Amino acid sequence: MKTAAYAAQSAESELEPIEIERRQLGDNDVHIDIEYCGVCHSDIHTAHNDWGGTVYPVVPGHEIIGRVKAVGDKVSNFKQGQLVGVGCMVDSCQTCSACDDDLEQYCENGATMTYGSEDPVLGGPTHGGYSNQIVVDEKFVLNVSEKLDTKAVAPLLCAGITTYSPLRQWNVKKGDKVGVVGLGGLGHMGVKLANAMGAEVVMITTSPEKGKDAKRLGAKEVLVSKDEDAMKQHMGSFDFILNTVPVPHDLNPYVGLLKRDATMVLVGALEPLPDLHGAGLILGRKRIAGSLIGGIKETQEMLDFCAEHDIVSDVEMIDMQDINTAFKRVMDSDVKYRFVIDMKSLKS
Ligand SMILES: [Zn+2]
Ligand SMILES: [Zn+2]
Repeated sequence: MKTAAYAAQSAESELEPIEIERRQLGDNDVHIDIEYCGVCHSDIHTAHNDWGGTVYPVVPGHEIIGRVKAVGDKVSNFKQGQLVGVGCMVDSCQTCSACDDDLEQYCENGATMTYGSEDPVLGGPTHGGYSNQIVVDEKFVLNVSEKLDTKAVAPLLCAGITTYSPLRQWNVKKGDKVGVVGLGGLGHMGVKLANAMGAEVVMITTSPEKGKDAKRLGAKEVLVSKDEDAMKQHMGSFDFILNTVPVPHDLNPYVGLLKRDATMVLVGALEPLPDLHGAGLILGRKRIAGSLIGGIKETQEMLDFCAEHDIVSDVEMIDMQDINTAFKRVMDSDVKYRFVIDMKSLKS
């Protein structure tokens, strides 16, 4: 089955229209008409081959919202017309210890990512949500509440779960002082979610002008990391820090902000980071950890939590044809806080 999409043909080329193949509906598959797809930093890194290994053409997009068009004979949890989501993964081995623990993102045999993985059925690379239709095993399809603003739900599928999962894993609770470093697609979700969990959220940023917005999103306070006096006042006071900065940066000042035994979790930077002073960790038994998206079960839990607490992403809508401008603006941090593509603009 053919469907319209947008793809990058090389690391240097802009995204352009393409027709791609989707598999025939299998017994356990859900066929989805895509309505919206968020534009994630990873889409850009992958299109530009920043992390290496991109197989072209690549159709990015892993913040997918759509309606069920058809279901396979053995599908039990979804029916035609239902509002659903697909995030960063579309398959995993289902047999390893990570999959057994509902942590498919850490599948020991390698989860099949929504784009850029080897397609287990068709061969070649999997293609993401910058397209009109997708066919996904029901185990990797999420139920989406009709209650929320549908288009603004799309970014929850990556930015939402990426920040929700560490907040849950490290047990962030009412009254905890939580720092969120970086106010972008991930950071703005981190502020909203930690606030909804009852934490006292402090936005930690290099740009004082982001302060007002951070407070609107739910931050109690704004800490400008370039202000040495302010940093001193907050030394040793944080129960948890969620670091969403997507580029290499000095972690040492943030380690200083942690309480004894507290943890800073990195969710943004996949690159080598500048030197870390051991003393900062040792004198206080502090920890730095990392976290990758969340499993399917936890992603459903996050969507349900957001429906209950009325949480969506702040989005700016674009047409598919605007994607190359949107990529440039994301790289310039010129979006509040997530672009979402209205897939009606891409006619098959
Ligand atoms: Zn993403
Ligand atoms: Zn597995």
